[in-house]
Order: sequence, then structure tokens, then C-alpha cells
Amino acid sequence: MIQLENITKRFGSLQVLKGIDFSVNKSEIVSIVGPSGAGKTTLLHIMGTLERPDAGSVVIDSIPIQSLDQKKLSLFRNQHIGFVFQIPQLLPEFSALENVMLPALIAKKNYKTTETEARELLQFLHVEERAQHKPNEMSGGERQRVAIARALINRPSIILADEPSGSLDSKNKEELHRLFFDVRDRFSLTIVIVTHDKEVSALSDRIVTMRDGMIDH
Ligand code: ADP
Repeated sequence: MIQLENITKRFGSLQVLKGIDFSVNKSEIVSIVGPSGAGKTTLLHIMGTLERPDAGSVVIDSIPIQSLDQKKLSLFRNQHIGFVFQIPQLLPEFSALENVMLPALIAKKNYKTTETEARELLQFLHVEERAQHKPNEMSGGERQRVAIARALINRPSIILADEPSGSLDSKNKEELHRLFFDVRDRFSLTIVIVTHDKEVSALSDRIVTMRDGMIDH
């Protein structure tokens, strides 16, 4: 599902990625761990097509990313990849339901169908009773579940999560782990998680360690 070959990336004089070969199979849950500054987030952003590498090849779902122009790339990203961040980036003036619907409406999907699907996702993530609430009326765990529902609304093939449990207490962390597995099983998703959290990584199918811009093999 994800194939990276010889990826390099530099910010100014800092060589952040030093030739990364990495692939993830369909329906696999992989955790990327390693010290701060190792390049984990940069690698995740390259997989998510948010950042272009200086060199190397990125193939996602059999599509070579470097062949896409900027417009096709955003379309590709919107259709194939769902992002989950440490702090859920929900829009404060919209309800949970509206937040989940938004990416589908931007992709010009039908309003009624989108609303039905958004409600189903909120239900699947056990947060349907918050559908009409604004983000500031929800707990951190609920906000993160709404953010995951939003990441799923366009039926992506990949979820990329950057420290998804970073702002949660232990009860909510545990629930989040289970949800990632439920989500993978239900939607046959491929999930890559950057995490410091040993409990999260222990539950994944595979753990990859990054150090100083390289992957430990
Ligand atoms: P990690 O996720 O492992 O902590 P990052 O990928 O966030 O590592 O960052 C790796 C290094 O690259 C860090 O030293 C960071 O400061 C630097 N870096 C990341 N993004 C940028 C950027 N947009 N501009 C300049 N430096 C960056």
C-alpha cells in the first residue's frame, strides 16, 4: 500500500532523512518510534504527500506520487489518506457532525448521503451522542474520536496518525488503541502511527524504529 525507496529530505543544512526504504502492506498497522528529531513526522508527512522528498520514490496504492501535479496531488490526498493529529484539529464553530461531513462536502459528495455516513461513523466510534455538540463541549477523547470519524468520511485507504494518544489520559488511550483495530478491521485500512507511547506501539502489527534520519533494520 505504501512503498518508499531511498527517500532523502533536507531542511536547510539539516539532513533530516538519509535514504529511507520502507513499505507498509495493505491492512497493516505499523508504529514508527524513535527519539525526538529522528525524522518520524517528516517521514509521515512524505507518506501523506504533505511534503515532497528531495529524492527517492513514493508509491501509494500503486500510484507513483511524483507523477502528480499539485492539483491532482490534493485530490489524491483527499481521497486516499486520512490524517489524525495529536491535538484534534476540529473547527470550533461547527458541530461534531458538521466537522465529520466537511471533507466529503469539499469533495462535492451528496449532502444527505454524507450526513447518513457521518452519523454511522460517529456511531461506530461511540460518539454519536455528541453529534450536535461543538468541540469545546466535548472531552479530549471524544474530540479525537470525532477527528478519526472525519479522517474516515472519504473512505481513505490509509490513516496516518501523529502522536494520536499524546493528549489523552490512560483510559482514553486504551479506547483509542481498540478503535484503531476496529477501524482497520471494518474498513481494511492501512494505518501508520508515529508514537512515543509504548502501549500504542506494542499493539501494532509491526514496530519500526527511526534514529537520526534512518530506519533501524
Ligand atoms: P520527529 O518527528 O522524529 O521528532 P521531525 O520529523 O519532526 O522529527 O523533525 C526532524 C528534524 O527536522 C528536527 O530537527 C526538526 O527541527 C527538523 N524540521 C522538521 N520540519 C522542519 C521544517 N519544516 N523546517 C525546518 N526544519 C524542520
